Amino acid sequence: MTLSARDWLERIRALKLPNRVRIMNVCGGHERSITMAGLRSALPSNIELIPGPGCPVCICPEEDIYEAIHLALHQAITLVAFGDMLRVPVNVPKGEIRTLDQAHAAGADIRPIASPMEAVQIARKTPDREVVFFAAGFETTTAPVAALLAQGVPDNLSILLSGRLTWPAVAMLLESDTPGFDALVAPGHVSTVMGPEEWEFVVDRHGLPAAVAGFTPESLLAATYSVLRQLVDGRPFLDNCYPELVRPGGNPTARAQLAEMLDVVDAPWRGIGVIPGSGFALKPALAAQDARLRFPAASREGHRRVGEMPPGCDCARVVLGKIYPDQCRLYGRACTPRSPVGPCMVSDEGACRIWWSGGVRESRSLAQR
Ligand code: SF4
Repeated sequence: MTLSARDWLERIRALKLPNRVRIMNVCGGHERSITMAGLRSALPSNIELIPGPGCPVCICPEEDIYEAIHLALHQAITLVAFGDMLRVPVNVPKGEIRTLDQAHAAGADIRPIASPMEAVQIARKTPDREVVFFAAGFETTTAPVAALLAQGVPDNLSILLSGRLTWPAVAMLLESDTPGFDALVAPGHVSTVMGPEEWEFVVDRHGLPAAVAGFTPESLLAATYSVLRQLVDGRPFLDNCYPELVRPGGNPTARAQLAEMLDVVDAPWRGIGVIPGSGFALKPALAAQDARLRFPAASREGHRRVGEMPPGCDCARVVLGKIYPDQCRLYGRACTPRSPVGPCMVSDEGACRIWWSGGVRESRSLAQR
């Protein structure tokens, strides 16, 4: 039986819920659908939908972005990156180049791409020039990079990898004293690749309800109803509300390529710190394709600048679901999509930008939460 959004809302309203239920999502696509469909205002006011760590651009470490800028400026290379990354600012003294866009304006050869295959095409077209692919993203972006490596890339293409796994950030929150949520809506795209089993720990280790959702309002409401119903019944389990695409075990080919090409390592998240087992790195056998080894000077320069967020930017707390975007003091004042201060206002997957695009114009005080 296919239920409409209205049907799901009626079912949710019929539940006898506690005074406050906080449901976290960890996917920029989910947050966008929730905001654009107005689901927050359609749900009973005691249900909070909290955007969590779902934006790979927002958590890309400053040293990686700085490394990419430094590479593009000082090496005879072409740097390619997903468009979002080009506008993400790093925290440098006034007057210094702070984004890849600014490096491009200063003469660096930097090109936006929409898919990893474009990096290969550019490298093939310019065989006499080194091409570096700055590949930042979660599992869904990193899996195609692993596929490229498995197929073999041109000799002049190397990868500056900043890949991250999503679930360790959720595990870190759940293992803290203040996780800040009572149930999880798990990401559909990540589960398509890695399998829904990736989220079993939420239920098995922490006893919280969890449901994998797709990207339509109906799928998100189905997952919301599922976790609420689990809470009410006191029987948490992992529900798959996106069975059209999410299958047990995920995508076995993608998982095999990830395991074959990449190691899982401890990795820094911007403004948050190192999260154990949350990053991807190229296997030692792929050293020839590793931009960090091919251009070690840029890597050293990047790591000299392990910065945090720009002054006043609360992106790290937004990413961890500790505050809502409009609770940042700079939201809509010093920080707008036209003039972003932090990465959460740059990326299409950043909660600040999504809320701004969804029409949230006023910042509210922390005291209201
Ligand atoms: S509104 Fe801007 S400054 Fe504030 S958290 Fe978001 S991106 Fe950072």
